[in-house]
Formats: sequence, structure tokens, C-alpha cells
Amino acid sequence: MSGSSSSTSSSRFLKIGMVGFGNFGQFLANTMIKQGHTITATSQSDYSQLCAQLGILFFGDMEAFLGEDNDVILLCTSIVSLSKVLKSMPFHCLKRPTFFVDVLSVKEHPRDVLLQVLPEESDVLCTHPMFGPESGKNGWKDLRFMYDRVRIKDETICSSFLQIFEREGCKMLEMTCEEHDKQASKSQFLSHVIGRALAEMDIKSTSIDTKNFQTLVQLKENIMRNSFDLFSGLFSHNKFAKQELENLELALGKVKQALLQSMNEEQD
Ligand code: NAP
Repeated sequence: MSGSSSSTSSSRFLKIGMVGFGNFGQFLANTMIKQGHTITATSQSDYSQLCAQLGILFFGDMEAFLGEDNDVILLCTSIVSLSKVLKSMPFHCLKRPTFFVDVLSVKEHPRDVLLQVLPEESDVLCTHPMFGPESGKNGWKDLRFMYDRVRIKDETICSSFLQIFEREGCKMLEMTCEEHDKQASKSQFLSHVIGRALAEMDIKSTSIDTKNFQTLVQLKENIMRNSFDLFSGLFSHNKFAKQELENLELALGKVKQALLQSMNEEQD
């Protein structure tokens, strides 16, 4: 892992084709357009009207989309749909070797699927912007951007793509997909589980909130803005997540046990 990106050469404007134009895809597109990149998009839903407003060419047809001669194909689909989406893509329509990037919140899964289904001449950059529409609404400065140069031949495009995030002030973190998933299971996944559990309990602000409790309410609200697909993908496609869920259950049991024991000792 290193604290800074290796992309130091000059950047250029890219033609970026986005697959998946949902919540996060739209959020990324806004900054990419602001920086002067050209965006085209495809998605399972019809976003043609929204795209027209943003100056994005929207394709309902995947063959036409891939025939557009993009520098980068940026995969922004849900974790759980990635494999199906990729396997249905007619790669023979690509006009040249193409640079593929994914932004999924798990990393070993997209790396494995991309290496399995893409033409061998395609470059693969696996990334995870560690922020979203809420945490990044006032800019991306000092927010973390993880990436793994899985199979890179075109250094110019790689460098230009990474510079999108460097220019916004992101902290660039190069690490393996496996290391990402290990750390994310102990951080991001855990915060989603706890946020969802608090939502199940229907916690709400009270008239006597402590600061700590306000933090919990905020966590619940932030987490519940994400789709269930995202949450489910964090679990089903990260091999480290199951253990962390068990650790949490175990820890909750131990905390309960400590309380009951101390109450019993008081009564003795
Ligand atoms: P999401 O629920 O994880 O994914 C929604 C996207 O997946 C939409 O573009 C949707 O297309 C597409 N999709 C869902 N089911 C599909 C299917 N069966 N076939 C084809 N496409 C399908 O929500 P998200 O927040 O937009 O996240 C998108 C990706 O970015 C995810 O991989 C997530 O892990 C990653 N990410 C999200 C954040 C965040 O803060 N939200 C941060 C970093 C990374 P339609 O809209 O056309 O249905």
C-alpha cells in the first residue's frame, strides 16, 4: 500500500462510457463532466431524459454503447448484478482494446469476474471511492480513493483516470483487492450492519439526546440511504464479511453476559 498515486504524467480528457447510471453513477458523472470529460451511459432503466439534461448520450442498446469507441468503460452497477451484466455484454462490438474500471464496494469479486470475462487485451483497474453522494456532497477533498492496478498496459489512460480523483483532492490509496476486502469487512461492512440493526430498532432522536446517540441516529440515516442491494453485496461478495458478522454477534453476547454477571454480583 502507498499513500500517493503513481500517476504523475499529464492528464487528458477521456471519453468515459458508464454502465449503470443509478445513484452512484450519476454522482460520479457530475464531477467528471465538470472536469471536461465526455460521458456516455447505459443502464437497465431508461435514463435518457436525465442524461439529455446533463449533456450525456444515453444508450438503451448495449451493442451501440460498446461501439461508441470509449477510452474507458466505467462499471457502476450493483455488486450483485455485475456478473450478469458483464456476461451479457457483446465485447465483439468494442472497436479497440478498451480500459475497464469498476467502482464496486467489494473488490475481489469484480477483479475475478473482469479477468474471467473480458478480452485479454482489455486493461483492468479495480477501484473503490470510499465516499458517496452524502459524504462527498461538498467535494471530495481528503476523501479516500482505493485502487488496484490489476492489468494495466495503457499507462496514459490509467494516469488520466486516476487524476480525476487526484484533482479533486482525494487521498489515493493503492492496495490489493484482497487487502481492501479484509479492511472493508472490519470497517464499511460493520458500519452498514450496525446502521441497519439500528434501523430495525427504529431508533429516533429524543429530547435528551447525547452526542453519542446523535452519532448513532446519523449513522442509521446515512446507511439507510443506500440500497439493500449494496448492503447484500457487501456481505455475499466479500469472503471476510461472514466472520465479521459472527464476531459482532459474539461481541454482543459477551457485552450482554458482562452486564448480567455484574447485576447478579450486585444482588449477591
Ligand atoms: P446499487 O444499488 O449498488 O447499484 C445500482 C445500480 O445497479 C444502478 O445503476 C442499477 O441500474 C444497476 N443495477 C441493479 N440491478 C441491475 C440488474 N439486474 N441489471 C443491470 N443493472 C442493475 O446503488 P449505487 O449506490 O448506485 O451503487 C452503484 C455501485 O457503486 C455499486 O457497485 C456500489 O457498491 C458502488 N459504490 C457506491 C457508493 C455509494 O455511496 N452509493 C460508494 C462507492 C461505491 P438501474 O438504475 O438502471 O436500475
